[in-house]
Amino acid sequence: MSPQSNDPAGWQPPAKNRRILLASRPSGEPSPENFRLVETEIPEPGPGQMLLRTIYLSLDPYMRGRMNAGPSYASPVEIGEVMVGQSVSEVVESDVPDYHPGDLVLAASGWQDYSLSDGAGTQKVDRSLGPISSALGLLGMPGLTAYAGLLNIGKPRPGETVVVAAAAGAVGSVVGQLAKIKGCRVVGIAGGQQKCRYVRDELGFDACLDHHQPELAERLKTACPNGIDIYFENVGGPILDAVLPLLNNFARIPVCGLIAHYNASEPPPGPDRVPLFMRAILTKRLTFRGFIVFDYASQYPEFITDMSGWLSEGRIKYREDVTDGLENAPRELIGLLKGKNFGKKVIRVNPDPQERQPV
Ligand code: NDP
Repeated sequence: MSPQSNDPAGWQPPAKNRRILLASRPSGEPSPENFRLVETEIPEPGPGQMLLRTIYLSLDPYMRGRMNAGPSYASPVEIGEVMVGQSVSEVVESDVPDYHPGDLVLAASGWQDYSLSDGAGTQKVDRSLGPISSALGLLGMPGLTAYAGLLNIGKPRPGETVVVAAAAGAVGSVVGQLAKIKGCRVVGIAGGQQKCRYVRDELGFDACLDHHQPELAERLKTACPNGIDIYFENVGGPILDAVLPLLNNFARIPVCGLIAHYNASEPPPGPDRVPLFMRAILTKRLTFRGFIVFDYASQYPEFITDMSGWLSEGRIKYREDVTDGLENAPRELIGLLKGKNFGKKVIRVNPDPQERQPV
């Protein structure tokens, strides 16, 4: 079959399906050799199925975990399978009730130009809420992660001090802005002066510290004169080491991610620090609580009402880091795990229909 273009400017959709497969499992940092780009025919939708064309593919830190074998909260990608990922896709053909060609949907399509879906797990993208790519970031999974983790576990109260790392990224940037809306003092931690300036000057955090500069622990102590009431954990590693001594009694720590450890192939060197850690939990009566965003799927309706409202009022801002071309996804995921992205990372796999069509 050959999918038709409805693009007045004459853009032609890809005639083959490019797919990026997991070629081998990385040990430590992934490399381009762990991925393989193949070209196949465009799949034919059967009864009750629709054919989707990927527009924006989301790249997220969890993808590194799916490249490993072994148990986790989700199954790994098998060698030779297409890499997993959520996308905003366009319906090309449909035999699924209520889905029509031209509709835009959020789908678990993976790293490829075309995918088939029976509609399970997909939802339509509401173009009135913002640019369609925001359904993968602020108005999607990362935004809900920030919202649910901070409000349900962090429980921010006015005047409290909140610290969040990866503060210029998809989750951290929303955590900090939401904490400001809740009346907190907010200190971000990010990699580099440019990210820190953005976090402070554009997003309105009270302070932002560059974790690439020395003496983070001392600088964090100065930035948090009243200690830390909520530490939204995105990173682990040396940043957690700097935070721990500053936690106040009854501090809450939503454990969202540990990106500093995702490429680790063995436990960190050094003495066993679990007893010290447990002692801090006991004596300061700390609440560490891990969560996965789908634990809070039922809060999606109130999240989308609140977040789209704050977005339209200008109270929440976001930044996307968009790269063109499916073939660049491996390089960009490798970079994301080292802080090369600046904002929510998305790959524009095919042109955005909103840009293709005349206004
Ligand atoms: P980001 O957009 O923030 O991108 C990742 C950022 O992590 C990088 O830009 C970099 O920022 C930072 N980083 C990478 N390596 C290190 C390191 N070694 N030390 C310190 N910082 C590092 O990603 P997301 O906002 O999508 O994700 C943030 C965290 O939230 C991740 O840990 C992710 O796994 C987790 N997450 C968890 C979910 C859940 O359901 N529990 C759902 C979604 C995300 P910088 O340059 O500023 O250091």
